[in-house]
Amino acid sequence: MKIKVVSKKSIIIALLCIFIPVFCIIACAGTVAHAVYTGKDEFFSGTIVVDAGHGGIDGGVVGSAGVKESDINLKLAKILREELTSQNFKVVMTREDENALSNVKRIDMQKRKEIILAAAPIAVISLHVNRFSDSSRRGVQVFYDDTLRGKDFAVAMQEHLNESVNAVYSGRDDYEAIAGDLYITKCAPVPSIIVECGFISNREDEKLLLDDKFCTYLCQKISEVVSAQTQI
Ligand SMILES: [Zn+2]
Repeated sequence: MKIKVVSKKSIIIALLCIFIPVFCIIACAGTVAHAVYTGKDEFFSGTIVVDAGHGGIDGGVVGSAGVKESDINLKLAKILREELTSQNFKVVMTREDENALSNVKRIDMQKRKEIILAAAPIAVISLHVNRFSDSSRRGVQVFYDDTLRGKDFAVAMQEHLNESVNAVYSGRDDYEAIAGDLYITKCAPVPSIIVECGFISNREDEKLLLDDKFCTYLCQKISEVVSAQTQI
């Protein structure tokens, strides 16, 4: 009897020794998939917040065809969510329809910050569309806050978008990531950038921003940088 009891215990212990590590490996595989940021900044988990700029009564800039920036930002944000999700990132959106989070801009931005903080993301990507007095200005530009982490992420993003988007579509590859005092990039102490996805004041850029194929291509390129900056 004594031998049998010891034997049972041994079997149970042996089984636990086998299954606990296996369970831990399986359980952890999903959560640490993108936990390590390989640049100078560090990523802590696998959630990306995608912020579609503006919304509601704040339409942002408006193109010659009357298309509102807020609508283009939302379309791009949904495409980017698809791309990042397909790369096994968890995506949290600050808005998923045309409405703002409040009709008061200050409260709208505060609520975006609350969403970002609750998501505990590894990075924040805010999507916008630009407008400039010189209608020849074209291309995608990346902004970050240089008082916080995010410069490496912004520089990598700008370089990749210069090569894969700007050089191909607007004939220029010399944009540099720009530091600025930008609320959305200061909401959480993680790499946070604004991607201005083109100039709606330029007819060619405006056409591209209305072209779903281009928008998908752009979001694929943005997603590639997120993947490259993290380690599976
Ligand atoms: Zn904007």
